[in-house]
Amino acid sequence: MTDRGPDCDVVVVGAGLSGLTCASLLCDAGLDTIVLEAAERTGGRIHSVKHASDGSYVADLGPTWVWPAYQPIVTAWLDRLNVETFNQFESGDAVLDLDETAPGQRQLLPGQHGIRRLHGGPQALIDTLHGRLPHGIVRTGHPVTAIDADANGVVVTAGGAGAEDREFHATGVIVAAPLRLAAQAISWPGSLDKAVLAAMAATPTWMAAQTKAVFLYDRPFWRSEGLSGRVASRPGPLAEVHDHSSEDGHLAALFGFVGWPPAVREAHPEALREEITRQMVRCFGDRGGAYSALHIEDWAMNRAICSELDLTRPAAHPEVTPDILRAPHCDGRLFFAVAETALQSPGLIEGAFCAAQCAVAGLTTTLHET
Ligand SMILES: Cc1cc2nc3c(=O)[nH]c(=O)nc-3n(C[C@H](O)[C@H](O)[C@H](O)COP(=O)(O)OP(=O)(O)OC[C@H]3O[C@@H](n4cnc5c(N)ncnc54)[C@H](O)[C@@H]3O)c2cc1C
Repeated sequence: MTDRGPDCDVVVVGAGLSGLTCASLLCDAGLDTIVLEAAERTGGRIHSVKHASDGSYVADLGPTWVWPAYQPIVTAWLDRLNVETFNQFESGDAVLDLDETAPGQRQLLPGQHGIRRLHGGPQALIDTLHGRLPHGIVRTGHPVTAIDADANGVVVTAGGAGAEDREFHATGVIVAAPLRLAAQAISWPGSLDKAVLAAMAATPTWMAAQTKAVFLYDRPFWRSEGLSGRVASRPGPLAEVHDHSSEDGHLAALFGFVGWPPAVREAHPEALREEITRQMVRCFGDRGGAYSALHIEDWAMNRAICSELDLTRPAAHPEVTPDILRAPHCDGRLFFAVAETALQSPGLIEGAFCAAQCAVAGLTTTLHET
């Protein structure tokens, strides 16, 4: 490490929800912050379809739901960022899709209590957080490849397609990137306990191997037929489908999670589109297949989110990870903050907020002591 002066107080690695929340809290605390993001956009697992004309929100390709009644940290952040919620549309019958040779059957299913959507989608959280940060502190296209630390501070190295490596010197670093990928892709300080790297490699990234399909329609025709838009399917390819229209129905959409394994999706993308179209006709009649657009996001192919391990081992529902992932490292200069490290709602939107709050509280304590 050189004894050159710092570029900033804190480097945050990753500009997903947790990284941007960290940056927001650090800036509010008066700390000079730089956010290094591998991808060319911010948001990480949060990503929306937007109107080509004005960039306004259309639909979610990543997360959709929050549960404010059970998620106090989400409730506080929605309030702080001035983002409002509405009920997931669930009125009417669902469709049970049990046999690929027969039309789906109508069936009333129990509602999912407390499940809500965000006006503007979770993208509104990203856009609001990013918009409130000082201009230029978020550097996209900067994949971090190395972190070094000693008693004086940290050095974070970022590469980029065709660009020379650039070093960022700081007093501390918060890593808000998926843990399994970060364990492999980043060279870590020699002083970092090997148990930390083992815990990172053992932590699946929630939903990393999933694919979401979003269908846009001229109007939510299923609602006037007494259908909720929900499908529970045995043959698939969509294992489940939900209404994804705007609250007033002026944006009409359905979305589903694809049940095919990642390797099959990658090898047969056209067959997948044909099969899910056939499934929508089976469940909703000809109008189901007459969508105006179909957007498919395969997260398993995102090399800044999904690791090889996430592809081969099915992810269990997230559990609270070992304390070592919330502890300070390298003399209190290194913390982790991706959603999977949270004590509350690990892997979820609430987890991203919770992890960021916890990491920033820990790092600012160190900075006040040094
Ligand atoms: C399809 C899908 C559906 C979901 N549904 C829900 C839901 O309904 N409700 C819910 O609460 N949650 C849901 N989730 C989970 C939710 O999206 C995540 O909890 C949340 O977005 C995690 O945010 P994060 O910032 O912690 O991590 P991420 O969003 O993963 O952000 C990490 C960032 O780090 C960047 N990065 C990676 N490596 C590097 C590197 N070396 N250098 C620099 N940057 C790097 C990545 O590009 C990314 O931008 C869903 C996720 C998916 C994929």
